[in-house]
Amino acid sequence: MTSVKFFCVNLQPSMSDMETYYADVLLPLHLPDTYTYRIPRELVGEVKVGVRVVVQFGQKRMYSAVVRRIHSVAPKWQCKYVIEVLDSEPVVSLRQMEFWEWMAGYYMCCVGDVMAVALPAGLKLASESTVSIHPDFDGELTRLSKYERLVVDLLTQHPVMKLDDISRALGIQKIMPLMHTMIERSVVIMDEELRQRFVPKKSTFVKLATPYATEESQRALLEELERKRSTRQVELLLLLLQKSHFGREAVAKRDLPQGSALQTLLKRGVLEQEERVISRIASGEATATVESIQLNAEQQAAFDYLSHGSDKSINLLHGVTSSGKTEVYIKLIADQVAQGAQTLFLLPEIALTAQAINRLRRYFGDLVGVYHSRFSASQRVEVWQGAASGRYKVLLGARSALFLPFQKLSLIIVDEEHDTSYKQHEPAPRYHARDSALYLASLWGARTVLGSATPSIESYHHATNGKYGLVKMQHRYGGHEMPTVECVDMKAAAQNKELKGPFSKVLLTAISEALANKEQAILFQNRRGFSLRLECDECHHVPQCINCDVSLVYHKSSGTLRCHYCGYSIPVPAECPACQSTRMRMTGIGTERVEEDLQIMLPEARVARMDIDSTQQKNQYLELLSDFADRKIDILVGTQMVTKGLDFGNVSVVGVVSADNAINFPNFRSYERAFQQLTQVSGRAGRRGGGGQVLIQTYNPNHHVLELVKQGDYESLFAEQDTERRVFRYPPYYRLIELTLKHREQEVLNAAAEWMAMQMRGAFGNRVMGPEYPLVSRVRGLYLKAITVRFERNEAIAQAKKLMMRMADDMNMQPGWKKVLTLFDVDPT
Ligand code: ADP
Ligand code: ZN
Ligand code: ZN
Repeated sequence: MTSVKFFCVNLQPSMSDMETYYADVLLPLHLPDTYTYRIPRELVGEVKVGVRVVVQFGQKRMYSAVVRRIHSVAPKWQCKYVIEVLDSEPVVSLRQMEFWEWMAGYYMCCVGDVMAVALPAGLKLASESTVSIHPDFDGELTRLSKYERLVVDLLTQHPVMKLDDISRALGIQKIMPLMHTMIERSVVIMDEELRQRFVPKKSTFVKLATPYATEESQRALLEELERKRSTRQVELLLLLLQKSHFGREAVAKRDLPQGSALQTLLKRGVLEQEERVISRIASGEATATVESIQLNAEQQAAFDYLSHGSDKSINLLHGVTSSGKTEVYIKLIADQVAQGAQTLFLLPEIALTAQAINRLRRYFGDLVGVYHSRFSASQRVEVWQGAASGRYKVLLGARSALFLPFQKLSLIIVDEEHDTSYKQHEPAPRYHARDSALYLASLWGARTVLGSATPSIESYHHATNGKYGLVKMQHRYGGHEMPTVECVDMKAAAQNKELKGPFSKVLLTAISEALANKEQAILFQNRRGFSLRLECDECHHVPQCINCDVSLVYHKSSGTLRCHYCGYSIPVPAECPACQSTRMRMTGIGTERVEEDLQIMLPEARVARMDIDSTQQKNQYLELLSDFADRKIDILVGTQMVTKGLDFGNVSVVGVVSADNAINFPNFRSYERAFQQLTQVSGRAGRRGGGGQVLIQTYNPNHHVLELVKQGDYESLFAEQDTERRVFRYPPYYRLIELTLKHREQEVLNAAAEWMAMQMRGAFGNRVMGPEYPLVSRVRGLYLKAITVRFERNEAIAQAKKLMMRMADDMNMQPGWKKVLTLFDVDPT
């Protein structure tokens, strides 16, 4: 056997001419392993660990793959050659690949699955990728190479083309490097990205025309206008000069006094106007220094503990809502920045990032890089590169920001660590971003701060057991009171005829009073749509989805009944599909209905709704939030999107339209969840004092969890839940792995699931539960069956995981079961 040689990133092998080298590469596909390609002589120096290479995979498909390792061990089979090298420097570091591999192992999927979500689309090219001319391409052909011009010509005739087809049409073999540079130069755009591109919000900007760029010319102009006594124009120009940093920048037209002075200056050519895309997210330089933040005693104590007091590398900051956790984070980040190190700031959801971005940019300006799925692919590539080069010191984003190529990561902050949005459900990897962050931190030797007003039972368990450090902030910043939380007994309200649609009189009165005081309100209802079911009064038929085992939800705005699982939709039937009766009754209330009823009952109020239906377009949620901040909206109605993190000082009333769903949900986490959700939404009230008021409408006003929410008693919730988890063998005492088997035919599925469960019982005994039908037992035309395994926390289960994956493969080998899908969900939520 030849001797094995491994080379690290950037380390050029002293390759002897005699030897043949091979690259093991990762492909962004559902493949269990790396694939080996032979490195042609002329590319030996260029193929490095972490660079992308073009390889052929399958019959004729080409992919950009990432080099995992280079060696000289000839594989036993005939292997293909690496075709082309795309990067001169690695785009993925060894540490990132280690992280991918850990994630694949832990969450029971393929490294390729992880790579597919980890790499931004802009860095994944395949012969199947489609491209178009970039909408911003100026049509300037002279700066293009001959081949680039040919591509542009071709795309002018056929606006969307596969790389493969371009390569064939132009007779260019090495299409990927060409495309790569054209994408980088924004001549073409990947179609995937194009489809994601939002229509940007445009606005008119005004600036001084070029002849007036110098101070002398400006002075001359002003003198001239003064002589002519055009006072208005002088005033306007002075204002413009001030706002534009003496003519260096353009100013939004609406920020200037509208009138004849403006018109005249435009007509004279002193001013020019242009359309520009505006973003509601601040950018540019920091406007405040971190030193200007004065922490109060509680914050200071938390900061001291988190920055050096604690001897643990993972610490939990348990601070009540509005205790000022963000300011503590900012101070911690500033320390890292001062040392030239990077901080990863994770947030559960995009709705939150807008506010967080602005708050961080105030102090760290352009050092903040924001990364999330709502950004276009080119923006993501830009942040990717800025993270790798170390230009960005603060990387902020939702869960996918974990995959950024950090240069020197020393701190990870997971804000709202309890939030379920940290868990990815579809597709694999089904990872939990908080838990993965802990592993990432360990790879870097970085510290982690988990922050929440309502920590997950898991994290609090570790914090009270000494595995994590723990520090608390028990008061709101500025000495503001916690809001008062009351339950409204809906049964009693109904009996006393104090219900109007979905609202109790108490809630309506509270909202009206708030509005009369020029305050705002938030209403939370965790169901979207108008009504949740349409039911026939005669035969009780409820229209169901044809693909899924759920009833269709009525969306009034679109006049449809829709499935929230698969998107299937039909027009609202005029009569019962089963018995033709015309008496169809609506039951269950969604956000659309709350919005509409509220508008009828409070016609003066400006009501807006925030849920996924109302924020389909990319900037809509930002607009809603900024309109709410600007008090252009009085009442914000929404799903869980309104419960989290938002910091609006003027909200005095928070209403929960119905708490019953949350507390009755059949899951071992339902009490924890209900407590977190209700406490979080309550926390939006009274953040700048003035006694916030929270009203929770419920048919179970004496429910234990509601009692704890009212008292803000997290400790009791934790104590009870922790005991329950231990007794009933749930996390954090046990680890759960859930297998979901799927197939089109129920009998096939049942048989395969039984077989699988039997194999598993053979290996793991009574740790195995099921198979059973999950709550929704058919989705998108596939029947589902779930098998759950629980392992004790201290059991080493890496082998068990491998065994289960092998069993699933074996199951697929049985006759007739080839198409039974098995999904693994490790630590299901
Ligand atoms: P939390 O994240 O704990 O719910 P925030 O960080 O949003 O709370 O803080 C609540 C409000 O108090 C914010 O508007 C924040 O700007 C303000 N605040 C907190 N700490 C300070 C401080 N040290 N100086 C000035 N304002 C602060
Ligand atoms: Zn009927
Ligand atoms: Zn469906």
